[in-house]
Amino acid sequence: MAAAGSGRLRDYLDDPFLGGLYRAIRRAGPLRSISVDLTNACNIRCTGCYFFSEGMDAHRADDDAAFDGFVERECARGTNFVTVVGGEPSLALDRLRVLYDRFRINVATNGIRRIPVDGFERLPIGVSVWGDVATDRELRGGGRVDVFERALANYRDDDRAFFYYTVAPGHADQVERVVERCVDNGNRVLFNFYSDLARTGGAFDAGGGFGTVRDAIERSIERWPDRIWTTAYLAHVVTTGELDGRRWGHATCTSVTADHPINRDRIGNGNPFNPHFRAYNADFTTTRRCCTGVDRDCDTCFDTWEHFSWITLNLRAHLATRDAFTNWLTTTWLFYRINRLVDADEKTLREVHRRTRLSCTPPPQAPSSPGGLPSEPATADAGPP
Ligand code: SF4
Ligand code: SF4
Repeated sequence: MAAAGSGRLRDYLDDPFLGGLYRAIRRAGPLRSISVDLTNACNIRCTGCYFFSEGMDAHRADDDAAFDGFVERECARGTNFVTVVGGEPSLALDRLRVLYDRFRINVATNGIRRIPVDGFERLPIGVSVWGDVATDRELRGGGRVDVFERALANYRDDDRAFFYYTVAPGHADQVERVVERCVDNGNRVLFNFYSDLARTGGAFDAGGGFGTVRDAIERSIERWPDRIWTTAYLAHVVTTGELDGRRWGHATCTSVTADHPINRDRIGNGNPFNPHFRAYNADFTTTRRCCTGVDRDCDTCFDTWEHFSWITLNLRAHLATRDAFTNWLTTTWLFYRINRLVDADEKTLREVHRRTRLSCTPPPQAPSSPGGLPSEPATADAGPP
């Protein structure tokens, strides 16, 4: 089956556009990725924040020695890509600069404090927003602070920044006006999907699914194809929890700490995983099950970054048809583009969406096998965290 898959891959890559995207990814090289909480502090308390929901802020480093040791150990281990989360990384700029200088990184921030350009010139910055100004103020600003407005002001026309827009299941009507604010501000948008960890219910309850949100995302892609960093296929996979007939959850998730004892059965079950990946706590020593959870119910997890990884590490499940491969390639390429690991112009992005939209169907069943970029180990270390 591997040989048949390789043959098909060669056929697909005869298409100059697909071949160009694929070669760009290969040139960027395999990613040996980790995630780390840069600090246990944050300057706001968002309703439903996974970090505080599971007490991850209990981990802390009281001096720089722990951080310095962590950096040296990860360099020695061969880590070359770090997703920086927290806590609020803009409260720990000295540490952030060290990571920026030593690794390829991206960072998630609430946008209240601007990360300066000086010393962070090419840093991919995901600025979180959770809805229109009123929703964001309610969920994140305690009803008093307009977090979204501050973030817009701090990152106006800043090419490093994109808005990481977490949409609640019942807020499809807000999508286009939020995207319009971001686009008018000179920024791009990557969608994320709200998990109701605070059990607020109503519009925040995912029980009814994200169908209307997905429709709104597709309309946004149509309207701003050069500003949206979510493919229709990625939105489909996140919101349905389906890939190649497999269900999203701990047994299939690729973003688990590979050498954590809690994941022993998961790592041994034959599904693709990232053998290098570790999710570090803010003490820079201990790790946890996964980036977004300690013992969280995986049915509540709609995290876009983790689903990027799920798709990327499942190349072989997308080789059965050209459409399925196109979905895999455009989505994987977009992950590399967001993180500035490949260069691209807006024409390429428009074509990525055109190709993905034309073929936005779930990939058909393919032989189940571990997969990554071909010619790499079976559990290829090629994906995001
Ligand atoms: S800004 Fe981020 S870390 Fe801080 S409370 Fe909100 S979601 Fe949590
Ligand atoms: S909570 Fe999400 S990232 Fe963590 S193991 Fe479950 S599915 Fe994976």
